[in-house]
Amino acid sequence: MTNITEVELVVVGAGVAGCTAAIYAKRYGVDVVILDKGVPGGQLMTVSSMENYPGFPEGISGMELAQRVHQQVENHGIEIVQEEVTAISRHDESRWLVQTGDGEWLAVAVIIATGVFPRSLNVPGEKELRGRGVSYCATCDGFLYRGETVAVVGGGNSAVEEAMYLADICEKVYLTHRRDRLRADPHIGQQVIERENVELLWNTVVQEIVGEEEVQQLRLRNAGTEEEWLLPVSGVFVAIGTIAHTDWLEELVELDSGFITTDMSMRTNQPGIFAAGDIRDTVIRQVTTAVGDATIAAYSAYQYIAKHRGEAYGEYAGPEQNQ
Ligand SMILES: Cc1cc2nc3c(=O)[nH]c(=O)nc-3n(C[C@H](O)[C@H](O)[C@H](O)COP(=O)(O)OP(=O)(O)OC[C@H]3O[C@@H](n4cnc5c(N)ncnc54)[C@H](O)[C@@H]3O)c2cc1C
Repeated sequence: MTNITEVELVVVGAGVAGCTAAIYAKRYGVDVVILDKGVPGGQLMTVSSMENYPGFPEGISGMELAQRVHQQVENHGIEIVQEEVTAISRHDESRWLVQTGDGEWLAVAVIIATGVFPRSLNVPGEKELRGRGVSYCATCDGFLYRGETVAVVGGGNSAVEEAMYLADICEKVYLTHRRDRLRADPHIGQQVIERENVELLWNTVVQEIVGEEEVQQLRLRNAGTEEEWLLPVSGVFVAIGTIAHTDWLEELVELDSGFITTDMSMRTNQPGIFAAGDIRDTVIRQVTTAVGDATIAAYSAYQYIAKHRGEAYGEYAGPEQNQ
């Protein structure tokens, strides 16, 4: 028999947005659970160093920030359950049915904070050699290539950060970019250009990742001259942006280019369903915006739940509002 658990609020995703939303909701007195398909922390676990998050003048690693957030979730007595949400549907007039591979949850409100995932290059060899030299996270896998030669593909902030991180571990790092200039913030772009063991390969397109059991070479093409050559590397780190996996939400909420559309209160077009963080259709995806979204989403969800409980709408503004 399927296991059904009733709660007031299900938060989908234990990244910084989901955790923040759950902490705020809990402090409003809401019965909340977080469901995450993987390790709590989300993308933060892949961020080597963050220098733009307020309050940490020397910077902080994403992993440390994620651990601190996780600790805060635990301190609030909020449970994070490792389950992948596969569907959300109307159960009755006032509740949503949240389905996972392991069970079902009935909730008055749901906050979707499922973030984004690394975009694939979609070249021959990438899928076959994933985990055997093809990686999407330098902080997770970089140590495997200590003293070796690797390549990072991309030209934005993520690619530059990956290259900088790997430059501390590897003997040589190639940064291959299809354009003739970086898209990264000038401040960190300049830092990577100045690193002695990082070589930038401009106007360079990856055609194929070559290797038998493990990555051995990249087949590259110069976008201007069309010349092709082979670059020997032990690992390749793909950092060409992110994509939202929202196919399973298509029938549920309004999407724009795969991202969830919300109003300023983080409400979707479905009553009781809210969204926060990188999954939301927004202009910039950062930790600061994720926690801001989550704070609003939690307050909106709390108001929705209060109405469901029969409390006057917004009667209890919540502890944070009164401080
Ligand atoms: C390399 C890199 C460097 C960055 N540098 C910075 C920086 O310097 N400063 C900054 O502010 N931001 C930075 N960011 C961006 C920042 O990390 C993100 O904006 C932020 O972490 C997004 O948080 P989130 O909670 O919205 O999503 P995520 O962190 O993506 O979390 C989403 C969570 O949802 C879970 N999930 C997904 N689908 C399901 C499902 N169906 N069921 C259950 N769980 C699910 C995932 O497992 C994940 O744990 C960087 C990002 C990267 C990748």
